[in-house]
Amino acid sequence: MNLELVILGCHSAIPSINRNPTSQFLTIHSRQFLIDCGEGTQVRLRENGIGLGRINHILISHLHGDHFFGLTPLLSSLHLLGRNKEIHIYGPHGLKDIINLQMKAQGSWLSYPLIFHELDFTKKSQLYEDDKIIVHSFPVKHRIACCGFLFEEKALPRNIIGEKIKELSIPFLDIKGIKNGNDWEDENGKTHNNHSLTTKAPESLSYAFCTDTLPLENLQDYVYNPSLLYHEATFTNKHKDRAKQTHHSTAEQAANIAKGIKAGNLILGHFSTRYLDYSDFLLESKPIFPKVYLAKDGTKYCIKHQNPKSLEIE
Ligand SMILES: [Zn+2]
Ligand SMILES: [Zn+2]
Repeated sequence: MNLELVILGCHSAIPSINRNPTSQFLTIHSRQFLIDCGEGTQVRLRENGIGLGRINHILISHLHGDHFFGLTPLLSSLHLLGRNKEIHIYGPHGLKDIINLQMKAQGSWLSYPLIFHELDFTKKSQLYEDDKIIVHSFPVKHRIACCGFLFEEKALPRNIIGEKIKELSIPFLDIKGIKNGNDWEDENGKTHNNHSLTTKAPESLSYAFCTDTLPLENLQDYVYNPSLLYHEATFTNKHKDRAKQTHHSTAEQAANIAKGIKAGNLILGHFSTRYLDYSDFLLESKPIFPKVYLAKDGTKYCIKHQNPKSLEIE
């Protein structure tokens, strides 16, 4: 039930030898999502031991090539592998036409249904919900329409005290209700208050993906206190003007955003290929937000319920 994020690509615009354009694979409460799909994503998935069959939901933030040029090749590979289960794609208006055109040009169609969900760039919108998690998109400020994504675990059940089960001979069938906060009546008709049988629920984990964008003054309207925030930091302060011109952020601005929304941890990414050394990204962000990390292709970041404030890196 941990939150796990594998960075498949963390560069902007042009791929370099060790750094692909944006793509990430998120696991939250055992649900899995591919977020953006830059060129080379399917190779990175294989390198990281993530089977293509695990992909059921793909979210595309916007239609700049560094965020979706790997999508059609990935969909084609799934077809060649004989997939028949549907795939949900959450993306901007126009993405469906682009995929259809590419398929039509090569005279083939996919062996499985593609279900498109168009993003709304005007407000925070729910994309997905089940009994354990909920996913929203929210508009960010970029040169073209672009959305961030927020993945949240729903409130988790309380922990039942093991000794109480034994001591009071609580039947197995009653445990779920107690974990959900119900009081419990024993066979003599005595009511046991829920707080005498349980301890508080683990903190729900959440992940916010925020790229490509100018620093958003109103981000706290959409995201507050996420366990983990990924925020773009295309530039350092040396290129602050360029960041403004191109509707991107600097490392310092991203750190201020993370502080403002009380993020638990911050990962910076979407680095411009002009940088060969990334030390300035840390130098400029760490004094403002100490729990900051630089994204790296092939790295897994994990947050566990036992220690929800801490980010483990593999
Ligand atoms: Zn980009
Ligand atoms: Zn972009």
